[in-house]
Amino acid sequence: MLEVKDLHVTVEGSEILKGLSLTINEGEVHALMGPNGAGKSTLSAVIAGKDGYEVTQGSITFKGQDVLEMEIEERAQAGLLLGFQYPVEIPGVKNIYLLKAALNAQRAARGEDELPAPEFMKLVKEKLGLMKMDASFLQRAVNEGFSGGEKKRNEILQMLVLQPKLAMLDEIDSGLDIDAMKVVADGVNSLRAQDRAILLVTHYQRLLDYIVPDKVHVLVDGRIVKTGDAELAKELEANGYEGIEESAA
Ligand code: ADP
Ligand code: MG
Ligand code: MG
Repeated sequence: MLEVKDLHVTVEGSEILKGLSLTINEGEVHALMGPNGAGKSTLSAVIAGKDGYEVTQGSITFKGQDVLEMEIEERAQAGLLLGFQYPVEIPGVKNIYLLKAALNAQRAARGEDELPAPEFMKLVKEKLGLMKMDASFLQRAVNEGFSGGEKKRNEILQMLVLQPKLAMLDEIDSGLDIDAMKVVADGVNSLRAQDRAILLVTHYQRLLDYIVPDKVHVLVDGRIVKTGDAELAKELEANGYEGIEESAA
């Protein structure tokens, strides 16, 4: 589904990704781990098409399409979706309108009609229930006054409504207490599907007790230096990244 080959990316003149390769198949959940500043967020930002990143070498293909040739909107329409690392506040814009606008833009791009209001409400309420969120959330301005946990839930809610083909979630566990983390993990698990892949960026192994990945990659200094299964995350938790960095060097 997603194939990243020998990707080199420069941000403000310095090379951050230095020959990163990664393949993700449909139905798989991949965890991307690694020390601070390794380039994890850079990778998901480049795939999603955020500004400010210069690809100097390598390729990214998604279902055979050249992602680097696609505009940010085209990527979203193709089903590549990145959740926000620090979800922004949008004063005055209700959550429900943002969800509806995003869903209908996606449908329009696929040549589908708007989802009728009753069906839309039914869909959103079902997903709200999964995220253990109150319906009053929908009427609040996007992220305004939301707690850290509420923002993360809202991010997963958006994914559940938009149903991307590749869901990229960056640090969705940061700042969550154990109960909120379980709810977020349940939401992510309910996103799992045969025709969908999930890329989870996370520092800590803890989240992976609840979302068991098919593959774990360790990103150090702009390259994936090790790939394994869920056990690799447990090793990292026990030993840290140091041993891995040494073996990579
Ligand atoms: P990670 O998510 O693994 O912690 P990032 O991808 O956020 O790492 O950052 C990798 C490196 O790129 C860091 O050294 C960071 O300072 C740098 N970097 C990322 N984004 C920018 C930016 N917009 N401007 C300048 N440097 C950046
Ligand atoms: Mg290279
Ligand atoms: Mg990051």
